[in-house]
Amino acid sequence: MANYNLCRVPQISLNSFDIGCNIGKGGFGKVYIAREKTNSYIVALKLLSIEQLIKENAEEQLRHEVEIQANLRHPNILRLLGYFQQSMYFILILEYAAKGELYKQLLKSGRLKEKKASRYIAQIAEALSYIHQKHVIHRDIKPENLLIDLNDEIKIADFGWSVHTKKSTLDYISPEIVEGKEHDERIDLWSLGVLCYKLLTGTTPFEETGRTATYKQIAKAEFTLPDHLSVEACDLICSVTVF
Ligand code: ATP
Ligand code: MG
Repeated sequence: MANYNLCRVPQISLNSFDIGCNIGKGGFGKVYIAREKTNSYIVALKLLSIEQLIKENAEEQLRHEVEIQANLRHPNILRLLGYFQQSMYFILILEYAAKGELYKQLLKSGRLKEKKASRYIAQIAEALSYIHQKHVIHRDIKPENLLIDLNDEIKIADFGWSVHTKKSTLDYISPEIVEGKEHDERIDLWSLGVLCYKLLTGTTPFEETGRTATYKQIAKAEFTLPDHLSVEACDLICSVTVF
């Protein structure tokens, strides 16, 4: 994996891959599983429609974010192995996460056992600590953006793309953002707390009906902890509300 750096191979094209089935659909295009022909390496190819990127004024920002992600190397951050442009598409070559979104796993199981959740949370915390040291903030930590590989390791995806996300998910955003204040990398830790709550209970802590009511709840850090949570889990969740 370490030597597999396609970023510097300008002659790469779709023809370099055997393209398999469609494994997902995102805001700007589709994702396919693919095998690189020369070394049989399995990857995910994300085809982003250039027309749509231009229409939504997201092209330059996307390039900028891609540069950031291509330089990150951490076992719990989805590797961006390379990118190229072909006809109507900007194509990202991504590490393949065989078990897909954590979100889908949660939909199936409702909530996770504390042991399993704590393993995931520890991995995400490690990855966040790494990016924060590099002065990068993810800004959009939530189960939809966390992929899982064959070995059940977390891979943080959609790196720094929250800027493009039109409908940002209210549930995971921090009081500083709600109040329009300046913010720093600690907003990721807030989201990590919300995520921890979600993994252990199956719901998010701030679920008032309506945006304004949810905003108020977030700003006051007002939430209840269900009885089935251990003291340690409660401590961890509450610790992110006190910076
Ligand atoms: P966007 O990132 O454009 O806002 P999105 O987050 O909804 O949109 P994508 O990131 O494009 O969607 O991914 C769409 C789906 O494809 C995801 O739900 C995920 O299941 C799957 N997917 C994306 N990347 C990979 C990958 N590297 N490995 C496995 N599955 C992936
Ligand atoms: Mg995504």
